Amino acid sequence: MVHSGHHFVAIFGGAVAGSEAAHQLASRGFRVIVFDQNVLPYGKIEDGLPKWHDKLRDKEEQRINEKLSHPNVRFVPLATLGSKVDFEDVVNNWGFSAVLLATGAWKDRPLPVDGVDEYINQGLYYQNPLMYWFNHYHEPNYQGAHFEIKDEAIVIGGGLASLDVVKLLMIENVQKALRDKGHEVDMFTLDRGINKVLDNLGYTLQDLGLKGCTLFYRRRDIDMPLSPLPTDTPEQLEKAQMVRKKIMENFLKKYLFHFEPCWAPVEKVVDGDQLTGVVFQKTKIESGKVVSVPGQQKEFKSSLVISSIGSLPEKIPGIPSKGATFEIEENNCCKLVGFDHVFALGNAVTGRGNIKESMQHGKETALDIMDHHLQWQEEDYENWLRGSEDSVKEQISGIADQIARKQFISPEVIQRILDKTEAMQQDVGYPGDFSEWVKMKLPVRLEQMLEDAKE
Ligand SMILES: Cc1cc2nc3c(=O)[nH]c(=O)nc-3n(C[C@H](O)[C@H](O)[C@H](O)COP(=O)(O)OP(=O)(O)OC[C@H]3O[C@@H](n4cnc5c(N)ncnc54)[C@H](O)[C@@H]3O)c2cc1C
Repeated sequence: MVHSGHHFVAIFGGAVAGSEAAHQLASRGFRVIVFDQNVLPYGKIEDGLPKWHDKLRDKEEQRINEKLSHPNVRFVPLATLGSKVDFEDVVNNWGFSAVLLATGAWKDRPLPVDGVDEYINQGLYYQNPLMYWFNHYHEPNYQGAHFEIKDEAIVIGGGLASLDVVKLLMIENVQKALRDKGHEVDMFTLDRGINKVLDNLGYTLQDLGLKGCTLFYRRRDIDMPLSPLPTDTPEQLEKAQMVRKKIMENFLKKYLFHFEPCWAPVEKVVDGDQLTGVVFQKTKIESGKVVSVPGQQKEFKSSLVISSIGSLPEKIPGIPSKGATFEIEENNCCKLVGFDHVFALGNAVTGRGNIKESMQHGKETALDIMDHHLQWQEEDYENWLRGSEDSVKEQISGIADQIARKQFISPEVIQRILDKTEAMQQDVGYPGDFSEWVKMKLPVRLEQMLEDAKE
């Protein structure tokens, strides 16, 4: 019989992947400590999923709350692995049976243009901090960085997140321009279709003095990774391409931005200390690959360039990495190379591959659903999240078996871990009860503020 209560597991990151792992292990009787760098363990749900998805956010956060409320799980907020908690210390000295990394992917993939990062906040923004600001700036006590949104921005991307960025820009600009004309329209109304709002008020974008932003993509609309449809046969591919084209047409119609397909960024355009544009290389798609069209480069000017080309795991001192992700052993539950009890979960390592896999096998999204942008996007996000959970579930059963085979840890070590984590909790004012902490710390929601303003 396995005495799993004699094993203690540390999980870093408590969001979709970390909370699922905690829940799985706690249900098997293991003791678990979840450390998160933030006050609340909601990761991409809170800071990456745009705030117009308020219902999906609340639902997903509730799932995380339930998982972390298991009596075998203890939560430690504001405990960043790599700074507040040292990786080598936790792995070598704390005495955990296993350490799991579920820290996600928070570093923006660098824009592949030489020297362009010198212009961050001087004409260049990256998607992750921009979305963080957008999700939180309405909070009365917001103290993070501020972002200045301008018209005619260049957005470089092509995936779902880059469409969120163009929407954010259009919503912000239109809302401000309408306010200048004396119309107060909230973000949720604009989310349902900027075209409708303007039609109802009898304006065009031009009347508001706006031109709209432009999304630049190295491929075509029919190549966008926008719908989880299978593409194994030529017929399936054709159908998926038709759906993608339709999604994009809908999106352009509703949010009034521009789309420039088949351009890859190659060079920066600068003026003094400001980025003022980007030189793009014309591309074409040949047998599914992006190929440059020789002699066709063009300069596009803009005082705001936003890069939205994906996210990578942040490097953490002491953790071996290979290329952009943590270095893991092949075929062994994502065990970190060089360690016998450290495993990486979710987007921190497998992310894309596994998630894609489970999306491929997911339910086929019907064409008519595509007519309702809101639905397809919520559904896509939900698919992603369930895919993440499923891959963690699969991984955990292998990891749990490996942990169960390890020596029990002594009562003294268990007590030491409990004492240390309690001290960390007290340090940050954590009351010891997860749901109480959530009540204390959940940010003020925009929908609540709008509701209160009505009364
Ligand atoms: C807006 C959005 C975009 C998405 N884009 C993609 C995509 O492009 N590709 C894809 O495959 N999936 C994507 N997904 C799916 C999504 O990333 C996964 O399904 C899931 O949200 C990832 O969960 P996670 O727990 O692995 O990571 P996260 O939600 O990122 O959670 C990581 C947690 O770890 C914590 N943490 C991070 N670093 C540390 C540290 N050093 N110490 C302690 N704690 C730490 C964070 O605070 C956070 O709570 C997207 C989801 C959303 C909502």
